[in-house]
Order: sequence, then structure tokens, then C-alpha cells
Amino acid sequence: METTKITIAIDGFSSCGKSTLAKDLAKELKYIFIDSGAMYRAVTLYALNTNCIQEGIVNQTALIESLNDIELHFELNPTTNSPEILLNGLNVAHEIRTPRVAKVVAKVAEIKEVRKKLVLEQRKIGANGGLVMDGRDIGSVVFPNAELKLFITASIQVRTNRRHAELLSKGIEISKQDVQLNLEERDLIDSERKESPLKQTDDAIVIDNTELTKKEQLNKVLNLVKHSFKVK
Ligand code: C5P
Repeated sequence: METTKITIAIDGFSSCGKSTLAKDLAKELKYIFIDSGAMYRAVTLYALNTNCIQEGIVNQTALIESLNDIELHFELNPTTNSPEILLNGLNVAHEIRTPRVAKVVAKVAEIKEVRKKLVLEQRKIGANGGLVMDGRDIGSVVFPNAELKLFITASIQVRTNRRHAELLSKGIEISKQDVQLNLEERDLIDSERKESPLKQTDDAIVIDNTELTKKEQLNKVLNLVKHSFKVK
């Protein structure tokens, strides 16, 4: 049986279930899973904690100057068997999901120097293939030669409901309306920014999961992987 390790790039709008799909896919294929959004969120957390962001305004010069002080790492959580992000040695997996970070992350992700640093790190992690990475520019910029590119979509109502439920389950109180506003604002900034905007590449396969369960979506993609690339 062929065991070629391919690269799978998953892009799409906020809260489309990209990371869930990427995680499940990586588990099935015994690949590495990287949530690139966690990296942008961790840089944002650093910027907030060091006052490079104040009242929603990003001091780009200060943040760019401190980029060399930011060290990111992933470590496997043995209970969930999922990689979690460490910011300068500290596990920030929970903190990066808070509204405080979500509110400003898209502004940090617009900065060219931030993207340059993170794209370099992402390419290093994926240098040997056998990787599922999700984000906004994975198929277009980070791994333009990825063997499989997926573009995930879902209706805004479904995305809002899913993110709202996820936040509540983590003990984070927020209204549905605020969740939806944040998703819409991030989608707009991510799609219209100058640096690596979110876009669907011509060679990406589009999956609308509005009506799909997690399992249905996973099976659909596993079929694509198995049939197209003969990956065990
Ligand atoms: O995927 P997630 O919603 O956690 O990403 C948070 C933010 O990080 C996005 O709204 C986007 O601004 C930024 N991002 C990005 N490029 C990526 C991944 C995330 O610009 N590859």
C-alpha cells in the first residue's frame, strides 16, 4: 500500500470548522495537524500583554520590533491528543480563544512582518509533508504546491451557532450577536487586506458544511484523499 505523505491545505472563513476537520483528518492519516490561526492569536496575545495593543489600536512599530522576542511552539496534549500552542514556553491554548484576542487578531494578521515570520515557521513545520494545516492563506501562500487544497464554507448562522456553543462550553460568556459581529468583521478584514488575503484558489475543492455533520464532512474528505492520492 502506498504511504506517500502529502500536504493538505484547508482554508476558509472564520469558524467554518476548519480546525475540527484538520484535526480529525490528521488523526485518521497519522499526520501532523497545525492550526495556523492559533499562531496569529498567540502573537496577538503577546501584543496585548506587552501593551503593543491598547484600546483596540495596534502599535505596529512596537510589535514589529518585538517579533524576535516571540517564540511559538506546539506540544501535544496527551488527553485530547491535539497540539496546543506555547507562547514563550507558556501554554496559552485557552487564552487565545477569548474575545479579547478574537477582537483584534485580524488587525495583527494584516501586518506584513507578522505574516512573514509565521509563514516561515509554518513552512518549516511542514517541510516533510504529512501535514494538515488550516488557516486563510495556506493553499495560496504557505503551501501553494499542496497536493490537496480545500476551501470550507458554511452559512453565517451555522458558524455563529457553532462558535457561540464552543465559547459557552469553555465558560466564556458572550452573546450570539457579538459572536456574529466578530466573525463578520474578521472575514471582511481577512478578505480585503493587502497581505495574503483570504481567497479560494482555482485548484481548491469547495466544501459547504452547512448541512453536514462532522463525520459526514470527514468521510467526504477522506474519500477525496484516498481516491486521489492513494494515501493509506
Ligand atoms: O482560524 P482562526 O479563526 O483562529 O484565526 C484567527 C485569525 O487569524 C483570523 O481571523 C485571521 O485574521 C488570522 N489568520 C490569518 N492567516 C491564517 C490563519 C489565521 O490571517 N493562516
